[in-house]
Amino acid sequence: MEELKTLLFDIQPFSVHDGPGSRTNVFFVGCPLFCKWCANPEGFGSRKHLMFAESVCKYEDGCNVCKNICPYDSISYDEKGKPSVNWKKCIKCTTFECSTICPNNVFKVCGKEYTVAELYKMLLRDAQSWSAGGGVTFTGGECTMHYDFLLAILKKCKAGLIHTAIETCAYCPTDHFLELFKYINFAFIDIKNMDDERHKEGTGVSNKLILHNIEEVVKSDWHGRLVLRQPTIHDYNDSDENAKKIVAFMKKNGLFEINLLKFHRYGQTKWEQLGKTYEYADKGDMTQERMLELQTMYLNEGIAAYIGDDTPF
Ligand code: SF4
Ligand code: SF4
Repeated sequence: MEELKTLLFDIQPFSVHDGPGSRTNVFFVGCPLFCKWCANPEGFGSRKHLMFAESVCKYEDGCNVCKNICPYDSISYDEKGKPSVNWKKCIKCTTFECSTICPNNVFKVCGKEYTVAELYKMLLRDAQSWSAGGGVTFTGGECTMHYDFLLAILKKCKAGLIHTAIETCAYCPTDHFLELFKYINFAFIDIKNMDDERHKEGTGVSNKLILHNIEEVVKSDWHGRLVLRQPTIHDYNDSDENAKKIVAFMKKNGLFEINLLKFHRYGQTKWEQLGKTYEYADKGDMTQERMLELQTMYLNEGIAAYIGDDTPF
């Protein structure tokens, strides 16, 4: 039987904000949502793709090493010699010659294929750095999209007594979700907007399956720790009304922890480097005052609300 493989866009050791202790974060390529604020847009798509870091190009110093390298004629040059990428042509590339030639790493390939055995070996390499109950966090992109691969690596981790965490949008078939959770110790699950129309507007999909999956996990005999997570965005999901609906949902399901992540634009440059339009460039900022007001609302309802990196592990 052919060995399972998947595409990852990063493996980051020494993470301390994505589960207990010091951890290794594994980022999967691919996501069923398309959140307008996404901070990891290199996780979009289902195949290897290019990032073009125009700002570090040395064309002004006379560099033109990449000239004629692209077999698809996707790179063009203006009168000053500044290169740009034709994304419509580039999207079909499988060979990425440009990434091998630029001395300044202007062209970077997102996505590298791993087998389960290769990833597990990488995790064992990091194991010495996992302190205070650390382990591995599967994230992305959306790791549950890679059901067979994720289930296989989770089973290996469980057999190896490795602590497992997941960061997920919970948009996957319910039977997959419940099966995966049998091998997960800790979960951050995103809850972006309780209003279905606004959820579709911000993410491209309905929230119904997501809410259903959360309810099903709670009803199951899973014994891990679940913290809901909300990327908190001005004029999108920071209203009292939305918070009240989340509180009601949490109380109904016996959930009592939420992590509020203040909206930021750290992903903007990456959107540009991928040739995508970042619609949230001019989105209003969340004030710290509003974050604290929301936190107080939850606390008054008996729900522990943590802002940013303050989730205790
Ligand atoms: S090789 Fe790299 S640094 Fe030189 S012109 Fe091309 S993209 Fe710019
Ligand atoms: S990724 Fe491929 S098509 Fe795109 S610029 Fe590089 S070599 Fe050309």
